[in-house]
Amino acid sequence: MARPGNKIIHAKLVLLGDMGTGKTSLVLRFVKGQFFDNQEPTIGAAFFTQILSLSEATVKFDIWDTAGQERYHSLAPMYYRGAAAAVVVYDMSSMDTFVRAKKWVQELKKQGNTNLILALVANKSDLEAEREVDSEEGQQLAQENGMFFIETSAKASLNINELFYEIAKRLAKAS
Ligand code: GDP
Ligand code: MG
Repeated sequence: MARPGNKIIHAKLVLLGDMGTGKTSLVLRFVKGQFFDNQEPTIGAAFFTQILSLSEATVKFDIWDTAGQERYHSLAPMYYRGAAAAVVVYDMSSMDTFVRAKKWVQELKKQGNTNLILALVANKSDLEAEREVDSEEGQQLAQENGMFFIETSAKASLNINELFYEIAKRLAKAS
């Protein structure tokens, strides 16, 4: 609920990253508190909303989660047009998805909105035994591109709220 006199921020958030990295799972964990081991691949675009209340503002997220971006490996401008935040997701147990994440970051940098809040997410942190991407590699990529970095697990419900709260805080600060 919005508090009286509290600023309300309406923000579009887009998710990018390879198929199977857990984008849909992250959103479902955040919005519904659910996780599925056999998460169905996203068909077309899925759209979710969620509200976060901070002391300084209430942030209403419109979250766009698509599948087509993954297949064509190019970013349709209409997808990120008007976005306030973009989240690039890789799977820390797959170096291939990290290499792809670098491409998504480059692509995002080209789109020109310098106010866009960028997050880099290393998902599936519960698979520590299968880790292929060190935290330092993620941290470095994030730092080079003015992104914030976080390791999450949609499965174990680790750092999911932290991810979205950090974005909300940055949105509140920038508005
Ligand atoms: P998307 O294609 O990026 O939307 O990925 P999905 O959300 O469909 O997830 C792909 C697969 O990875 C599914 O089988 C999920 O159950 C699984 N998955 C998603 N997040 C995690 C996680 O944090 N840990 C583990 N172990 N599996 C996950
Ligand atoms: Mg999906």
